[in-house]
Amino acid sequence: MAQVTTYRGAFIDGEWVAGDGEEITVTNPDTGEAVGSVSAATPDQIDLAVASARRAFESWRRTTVLERVEICRRAYDICMERAEEIAVLITRETGKTIRESREEMVEYTADHFRRAAEDVLRHEGKVLPSTQGMNRKRILIVQEPVGVVAAVSPWNFPVDIAGIPIVYGLAYGCTTVWKPSELSPLCAEAFMDVLHDAGFPPGTANLVHGRGDVGQALVGHEGVDSVVFTGSIETGEKVARAAGLKNRVLELGGNGPQIVLADADLDAAVEGAIMGCFYLAGQVCTAAERVLVHRDVHEAFVQRLVERTKQLRVGDPLAEETDMGPMCHRGTLERTRAHIEDAVANGAEVVVGGTSNGMYHDPTVLTGVTNTMRIAREETFGPVAPIMAFDSLDEALEIANSTEFGLTASVFTKSLNDAWTAAEELRHGTVHINESTNYWDQMAPFGGAKKSGSGRELAGWIADALTETKQITFDLT
Ligand code: NDP
Repeated sequence: MAQVTTYRGAFIDGEWVAGDGEEITVTNPDTGEAVGSVSAATPDQIDLAVASARRAFESWRRTTVLERVEICRRAYDICMERAEEIAVLITRETGKTIRESREEMVEYTADHFRRAAEDVLRHEGKVLPSTQGMNRKRILIVQEPVGVVAAVSPWNFPVDIAGIPIVYGLAYGCTTVWKPSELSPLCAEAFMDVLHDAGFPPGTANLVHGRGDVGQALVGHEGVDSVVFTGSIETGEKVARAAGLKNRVLELGGNGPQIVLADADLDAAVEGAIMGCFYLAGQVCTAAERVLVHRDVHEAFVQRLVERTKQLRVGDPLAEETDMGPMCHRGTLERTRAHIEDAVANGAEVVVGGTSNGMYHDPTVLTGVTNTMRIAREETFGPVAPIMAFDSLDEALEIANSTEFGLTASVFTKSLNDAWTAAEELRHGTVHINESTNYWDQMAPFGGAKKSGSGRELAGWIADALTETKQITFDLT
């Protein structure tokens, strides 16, 4: 019998309270068994959470930077102590492999506390000279905490992604209300415990559970000053409408191209595709959703990719040796199947994989993919490597730029000229040269071009969403 966990509900003003809304059951994608059930917050409880954050903001923004840094440092230690325990929760709720969940907790989430503590200590203002009058004015530029930050996050990096606005927000002097995905509420509660036990005062970090209606009410709430949303383009558009004129960062979907030129190191390009297409069963915004391969090396590349794909160990996500677990969400699994069916109906060929069993979908390699197929035009979010052949760099760049997405692209080549040209021409927020699309550097700005989002996050780059730039003028006459 699987262990069923009782969720505690909303975390408001430093206390756990049961949600008064609908009961939502969380299912383990691997076993199909209930992990537990969670009660959603009602509109009144969302009001209470936002009011608690507003009250706490008035004192939290006045704390010294050293007080906030000290709590962040304690939180880092606690997060590292509990990393394994929370990683297991992530895996039970989402089906991520234990190695992927551990990486999320240790390399990304815990380190947000360390990086935020360092960042906020080095936060600088500016003094500008006057360009008006008799040069007797001085203009001071400071960045102040924006106020109450609403974080709405997806299930695929359920703690790390929300951790960015929450941890950096708290470090900058903001207070927060978080609506995690209804698919991963248990690890969210465990993260709130880390914040509470580290000493972030009551009201500074709040949490409400629920579906999209709760997220929508939160981002549209008049007591919220800034919104940091990560999720699909479709939901992001609703969030943008509900948030109106609030400060905001939107981190949305992708359909990333990996381009393999004729002179590429093919082994490196194949490993890039394995990481890009099959990490987290392809359920990553930065996944390589289109693999564009120069016709001269197409056959060799496909042969090596198929060999490597067959070596992937698919199965129990809690087993150390597993490379790929189940998919998390039935709708996404069905979309993956539909994209493969559409591609095959229009002339593509399944070279390996192509079938599913329960929530598991085989790692799949498709050849003969063309730019009009659904799999090339839409985000699949499944474990598929759709291969498209091309004859010139110009053609590859045209295909790569031809969708509404623009999150991450990668290019494999030994030519400095081609790499540079591609990097300049690709309309994507990030371009990696000789590296998988699924490479994330925690100090670099992360975000999308075109419909893949607006604003940037990670390290100090998220400061724009969490602070208000203020001009203060001194007249010295
Ligand atoms: P969704 O857009 O379905 O959901 C994201 C969050 O928004 C969830 O907490 C969801 O709640 C909530 N939500 C749903 N409807 C609304 C609404 N109307 N107003 C406010 N909040 C709402 O995304 P998924 O969870 O399925 O995640 C996958 C998507 O996220 C993919 O498109 C992926 O590319 C993208 N993503 C982008 C990243 C980036 O940094 N650019 C990183 C990771 C993922 P609930 O779960 O309860 O429905």
